[in-house]
Amino acid sequence: MPLLGYAVKDTKLVVHKIEAERVRQIFEMYLEYQSLLATVTELNRRGWTTKHWTTKKGVQRGGRLFTKNNLYALLTNVTYIGQIRYKDEVHPGAHEPLVSDELFRKAQALLERNGHTGGRAVRNKHGALLRGLLRCRPCGCAMSHTYTSKGNRRYRYYVCGTAQQRGWSQCVAPSVPAGEIERFVVEQIRGIGGDAVVIAETVRQVRRQTEGDIERLSQERAALQQQLRDHHAKMQVAAAMTNHVERVSSLADVQQCIRSAERRLTEIDNDLIALRGQLVDEEMVTKVLADFDQLWDSLAPREQARVLELLIERIDYDGQHGSVSLTFHPCGIKALTQELAHRREEVA
Ligand SMILES: [Zn+2]
Repeated sequence: MPLLGYAVKDTKLVVHKIEAERVRQIFEMYLEYQSLLATVTELNRRGWTTKHWTTKKGVQRGGRLFTKNNLYALLTNVTYIGQIRYKDEVHPGAHEPLVSDELFRKAQALLERNGHTGGRAVRNKHGALLRGLLRCRPCGCAMSHTYTSKGNRRYRYYVCGTAQQRGWSQCVAPSVPAGEIERFVVEQIRGIGGDAVVIAETVRQVRRQTEGDIERLSQERAALQQQLRDHHAKMQVAAAMTNHVERVSSLADVQQCIRSAERRLTEIDNDLIALRGQLVDEEMVTKVLADFDQLWDSLAPREQARVLELLIERIDYDGQHGSVSLTFHPCGIKALTQELAHRREEVA
């Protein structure tokens, strides 16, 4: 079946430039919104659809709205990293990949963390604040949440995946008490507003992300303008048709395409103005994050878990040296900064 991002030429997959760019953006969008539903909503708002093609018999196929299911299928399709799936096996393909292995891996990790059935409540049934975030640094694998019961007491742990699957002796520090490491991470997060290094890094990441957004939108804008030129050329062809019925229907089709392209162009221009106006300076981030300590206290446990997922991409636990390092999610910091800035405005 034809796949968004590729065209088939002589039974080979070749990159379809405009669609390929969309595929890449869809992966990045999912990582930014962190949710299938939020991504679907945005895709539908933009009028982006699934692969649209014409069969040999001239029948129009595909071009459907995105749903959680077809978005999930897109995000897990190994074709996009240059591989082909045959039954349960995956092999290297001869075609060009559309997304980097890293981007693909991040999307898979997030899908796994969010759970296909999307159960946030299930995820935190035992108050596993760091589930899906914590990794065993010496082994380079995920640590999962588990607990043991003694009498009425329940002891929670995070356990290294290597230790779990290949034996306790395979890891230098196979488990860590959950409460201890959770408290440590929360302290780090609470202190975020007072840490000059974190603030400077945040400002840098936010600025880099805004610049990236501007770059992507500018590219989409250029592609749309090319499409519009093509549509106008088709319009002239259609206008010259001798058959009245065909002429009217072709003109209507082309006009529809032109209208939707122009609508998206207007959106892009508005977004670009907004992005260019986003002057993220150190002072603003400092002000916003300074309130973080208070904000954290006002949140319910479930909201705290959400904020943590939004802010943190990964937590590396090095049991060998007893150290923990947090990798912040640049998009998350941006989203949180904006959310907090909004709250300030509402309060003011
Ligand atoms: Zn380990």
